[in-house]
Order: sequence, then structure tokens, then C-alpha cells
Amino acid sequence: MAEVTLTDVTKEFPGGTVAVDQVSLTVEDGEFMVLVGPSGCGKSTLLRMVAGLEDVTSGTVQIGGRVVNDLPPKERDIAMVFQNYALYPHMTVADNLGFSLRLRGMRKPQVLEQVTDTAHVLGLGLLLERKPAALSGGQRQRVAMGRAIVRRPQVFLMDEPLSNLDAKLRVAMRGELSRLHQRYGTTTIYVTHDQVEAMTLGNRIAVLDRGKLQQVGPPDELYAAPRNVFVAGFIGSPAMNLSRCRVVDSGAGLALALGDLRWPVPERQLAIRPALRGYAGRDIILGLRPSAIGLPRDGDTSSRLRVSAVTVESLGGEKNLLFVPPFDHGERLLVEDSAGNLWTARLPALAPVRATDEVELAVDLDGAYFFDPDSTEALP
Ligand code: ATP
Repeated sequence: MAEVTLTDVTKEFPGGTVAVDQVSLTVEDGEFMVLVGPSGCGKSTLLRMVAGLEDVTSGTVQIGGRVVNDLPPKERDIAMVFQNYALYPHMTVADNLGFSLRLRGMRKPQVLEQVTDTAHVLGLGLLLERKPAALSGGQRQRVAMGRAIVRRPQVFLMDEPLSNLDAKLRVAMRGELSRLHQRYGTTTIYVTHDQVEAMTLGNRIAVLDRGKLQQVGPPDELYAAPRNVFVAGFIGSPAMNLSRCRVVDSGAGLALALGDLRWPVPERQLAIRPALRGYAGRDIILGLRPSAIGLPRDGDTSSRLRVSAVTVESLGGEKNLLFVPPFDHGERLLVEDSAGNLWTARLPALAPVRATDEVELAVDLDGAYFFDPDSTEALP
């Protein structure tokens, strides 16, 4: 069993930077866990503490039920893959793959067998005699992956292993990583700042911000039920649109006041989020996925929004319309990686909209998210 358990793990660097703050997290045996968060949130530091490359200031790290805080990396039965592949340039692919096995005293025929097997799985069979300089970026990354796999460690630790590859290769390697995980079922902790990578690879995702764990769960759960504004803004692409607004009692029921706009709160929202009623007369944070804003259909009575398109991004199958919302939506709601002050609506590919057009949009508040403006926690 290679469960990885972190209990109240904190890392404070000399000088006082708290890179990881009281993180508790269990990665199940065989699970693919993705650590995701913006630059500087502490994800690499957390991974390096599991690897033993960084001391833990307080808390415990367990691998397979054993506390490893004081064990050097080579005694932890882990293999790391980094973003820079760190291959030995003077060795062939075969020697790069077999190096760690020979170092551990494995006999030659057995090394050969394990190297051949791994090369086969990774499609490197025809490249075994080449040196790294004669490989493409994707092939080098595969050799780096192979070096980790060949040892059959208990745990893989990967730090942005695909970030040096071009977009197309990254997608291909993502598929390959999933396939490898299905084949070997090795417990994996994978660090990335790319939420699309996190969504597609992880059995579960752990979202970090400023050293603190924000939420852990399967990708769909994080998308459907983000626990707070940070997770809401970070998971999902394009990012969720967020705005501070006021909940007003219009006599006919609750409405959201955004500048001059009044959007009635649908019954469905009040049914699933009874706490909303308690916000009457107060501010709240509204979250709308880009897919909840579209072009009005005939007879559609949903809430409206008139905007000037700033940019229209055609993605082939659909279109993203970026616009400045006609109300003040609160600078402090900006989440890193979101589109700044702009909101996004997702439109069909053939929507007749061009940049600088004035457009009327329909807002589907049935799918809206609500957060407390002080705690930034999602409403229950
Ligand atoms: P990135 O995606 O940019 O790699 P990250 O989420 O992996 O970021 P870390 O590298 O873990 O973040 O860094 C977390 C915080 O700890 C940052 O504020 C960073 O400046 C700080 N930090 C990292 N290593 C050290 C160090 N050796 N000494 C002091 N501070 C450090």
C-alpha cells in the first residue's frame, strides 16, 4: 500500500515565508492526485517535502503508513519527474533508462528486460541507442517519464512535467500519462498551475492558494460545487464571472441589484439555497459560468444584460465574447488567471457577433453561484 498522508504540514523558509500552511491531505493508494494553484501557492514546496528534497517545518509526511520526515529521498521509494528532464546527455536512451537500476546493483539481463519493457510501453523502442540531443522535446520527456517508471516506485511525484512541451504535444502526453496510470496504478502526485491539465488528469484535485488547502475533490465536484470564491474562479475555463451585488426585496420576491440592473432570483435558487433569503438588504457575491450567459431566444424571459463586446474569440466549435460588465464588480474578486476586469459569455460558433458590437445577452440565474462577501465561502 502506498498511501501518502500529510498531517498539518507546514513549511516556513528562513526569512519568514510560510510556503505551506497546515496542510492535511491523504492521497489514496493508486490515486492520481493533482495539486493545483497559482504561481507561488506552495505546490512545488509541498511536493518537494513528500520527496524529501525539502525539510518539513512541522507536521508529518507518511508514505505507505511510515513516517518519512527524516528519511532521505532515496529511501522513500518514490520517483520524481520534473519540468526540465535532467537526462544524462552523454548516455543513450537505454543507459538513461537503466541508470538507476544499475546503481542499485541490478544484474545486466534484468536491467535490459526492464528497460526494454518500459521503452515498449512508452513507444521508445526504436530510440534506445540515441543520445538525448537527438530527441525531440516530447521524446525526451517520455525518457524522463521512463526513468521514473522503470524503477517501479511506490509513488510518482511530478512537478509540471509537461510545461516545456508545445500545446499539441502536451495534450498527447496528457493522454499518455492517463494511460500509464491506468496500466500501473501507481499512486501519483502531480503539480501543475494549469487547471485544464488538473481537470483532465486528476482522480482528485487539491486546490492551493497562499500555502493553504482550499478544497479537495473530484474534478466534477470542484467545478459544480466550489467551496469558495477562489476555487470558483480558478476551476473552469474560461473562468467564472464574479461580481459583488446587492440582494434586494422587490416586493415580488428577491432580486439582485447590479448597478441599474435588477435580476429576479429564481425560485429554484431559493429552494436549493435557502440561506439566500438571509441576505436581503445585504451584499453577496454572484458567480456565473460563461455558459450561463448567452444570446436570448424567442420568448425567453430570462434576465438581460446589454454590453459592448470587447473581444470575440472564435474557438471553432464556439465563441467567447469578452465584455466589460456595465456595473462595478469589485476589484478584490479577481482571481489569478481570470480575464481581469472582463466577463465572458459563451456563444455558439455561428453567433453573429463581432468585437465592438453592442449585444443583448440572456443570463441564466438558475445556474448561478453565490458566496458570502466577507468569508468568500459558498452559500450552503
Ligand atoms: P510555481 O508554480 O511558480 O512554481 P509554486 O506554487 O510551486 O509556484 P513554491 O515554489 O512552492 O510555489 O513557492 C511557494 C513560496 O515559497 C513562494 O512564495 C516562494 O517564493 C517561496 N519559496 C520557495 N522556495 C524558497 C526558498 N528556498 N527560500 C525562500 N522562499 C522560498
